[in-house]
Amino acid sequence: MLDEIKITEAIINSYLKDFNQYLESDVIICGAGPAGLTAGYYLAKTGAKVVILEKNLRPGGGLTGGGMMFNKIVVDKEGKNILEEFGISYEKYEENYYVACALETLGALVYQTVKKGAKIFNLITVEDLLFHNEKVSGVVINWTAVSLANLHIDPMTLRSKFIVDATGHNCELVRILEKKMGNVLFTPTGKILGEKLMNAEKGEKFTIENTKEVYFNLFVCGMAVNAVFGGPRMGPVFSSMLLSGKKVAEIIKERLG
Ligand SMILES: Cc1cc2nc3c(=O)[nH]c(=O)nc-3n(C[C@H](O)[C@H](O)[C@H](O)COP(=O)(O)OP(=O)(O)OC[C@H]3O[C@@H](n4cnc5c(N)ncnc54)[C@H](O)[C@@H]3O)c2cc1C
Repeated sequence: MLDEIKITEAIINSYLKDFNQYLESDVIICGAGPAGLTAGYYLAKTGAKVVILEKNLRPGGGLTGGGMMFNKIVVDKEGKNILEEFGISYEKYEENYYVACALETLGALVYQTVKKGAKIFNLITVEDLLFHNEKVSGVVINWTAVSLANLHIDPMTLRSKFIVDATGHNCELVRILEKKMGNVLFTPTGKILGEKLMNAEKGEKFTIENTKEVYFNLFVCGMAVNAVFGGPRMGPVFSSMLLSGKKVAEIIKERLG
C-alpha cells in the first residue's frame, strides 16, 4: 500500500535534512562539469565537507556533448590515470591518446563523487557571492527556475571556508566579483583576461598551471581558468579538466590543513 502523501513527505523531509546539513561547509564548488565533479571527489576523499551546486537539471556541463555531439572524450596518459581512479573504461587510440565514452565518464564521476561523500544539489543557480572581512565567504543562491522565469524572489545563502568557480567558459563567480569589486582579481590586470584561440597542447598545460586562487578564498578550475587567466581553449580533450579539478582539491586540502 503506497500513500501519496507519505511519498511527498519523504521527499521533502529528506531533501531539507540534506540541505540543512550543508548551510555551512568547508568547500562550495559551483558547477558540476568534469572539473567541478573531480574537485568534489578528491576533496571529499580527504574528508572535507563539500557541496557542489549545479544550475542545470543534470550534472555534466559540456562533458556529454563530447566533440561536436560525438559523445566520446579524449585524454592523454595523465588524464587516463584519473579515468582509472574512477573506474572508467577507455581504449588506447594511439600513443598518448585514450578515448572514453562521455556518458560512462559522467556516470562514474557523479557516482564516485557522491559515494566519497560530496553532496550535489542540482537546479540551483549561484547568483552572487557572500563577502566578509575582504574575503569571499560563501554564495548567494536561488532556484534556477526562479531566474529562468525572471521572478522577483529574494535568494538565500550558503557559507563555506573556500569557494571554487567551476562554471566553465563563463567563469560566472569570478565575473560577478569583477563586476562588483573592479580590478581586484589575482590576474596581471586585476580583471578577467578572456579565453584565447584554440591550441590543444598549450591550452591543456595552461589550465593545469593556472588552477589557483583568483581572489581571497575563491579558486578557479577547469575551463574557467582559461577564461580568467587568458589561456587558449583546447577543444574536446578533457585531461586538463580532470587534472585541474584534482589540483584545486590538493591546494584547498593544504589550506584546510
Ligand atoms: C561553446 C563551447 C565551447 C567549448 N570549447 C571548448 C574548448 O575550447 N576546450 C575544451 O576543452 N572544451 C570546450 N568545450 C567543451 C566543454 O565545455 C569543456 O571542455 C568542459 O566541459 C569544461 O569543463 P568544466 O568542468 O570546466 O565546465 P563545464 O563542463 O562547462 O561545467 C560547468 C558547469 O557549471 C554550471 N554552472 C554555470 N554557472 C553556474 C551557476 N551560476 N550556478 C550553478 N551552476 C553553474 C553549468 O551548468 C555546468 O554544468 C566547449 C563547450 C562549449 C559549449
